[in-house]
Amino acid sequence: MSNADLVTNNNNARGVAGILAIQGDFAMHAKMLDRIGAPWKLIKHAREIQGVDGLILPGGESTTMLKFFSGEGMGEGVREFAVAGKPVFGTCAGAILLAGDVTGPSQETLGLLDISIERNAYGRQIDSSVRTGECPGLTDHPIEMVFIRAPIIRRVGDRVKVLGRADGLPVLVEQNNLLAATFHPELTEDETVHRYFLGKMNQPPTG
Ligand code: GLN
Repeated sequence: MSNADLVTNNNNARGVAGILAIQGDFAMHAKMLDRIGAPWKLIKHAREIQGVDGLILPGGESTTMLKFFSGEGMGEGVREFAVAGKPVFGTCAGAILLAGDVTGPSQETLGLLDISIERNAYGRQIDSSVRTGECPGLTDHPIEMVFIRAPIIRRVGDRVKVLGRADGLPVLVEQNNLLAATFHPELTEDETVHRYFLGKMNQPPTG
């Protein structure tokens, strides 16, 4: 099955997507999943993670989310979920949380995805921008990508596939069950990336 098959073959998406809802733009992910017609559940407590089949870590402030991660076992819950091979999709701050190492400045991470990522890397003067990128394995059409105080992926490990680029930089990457975007696919009308993630939820777990 090709990547593009995953995008299109999920109209019968099985399972519920959890959306981490401690901070950030989780509501926009819920809106996107509503538009696609996929069931979702907001995750506010670590114990709720085991009840879902995929997990979205939204954009927001990774430092604030990290504070919540240390309390109540939320960070550990996310890690266990990912290590069990269940699909996890981090957008922007969520991608920072998944990364192997973080600069700009350095901070703690879940260390699950073999990338190095630099926070706020487009510079303060470009606080946010809309760019056009390509995700060639997923779709033939160009994708409108919204970047907000976005990080840049500076290193991609051997196990990591680059699924999307904008301005030559990797902006959508995948490592088995993990998917990460430095942009905000939930803020446009384009459903491709969410549909792809839902497609991953229909696949058998991978490690
Ligand atoms: N700059 C934020 C951080 O470092 C990420 C911004 C976002 O998620 N849009 O966590």
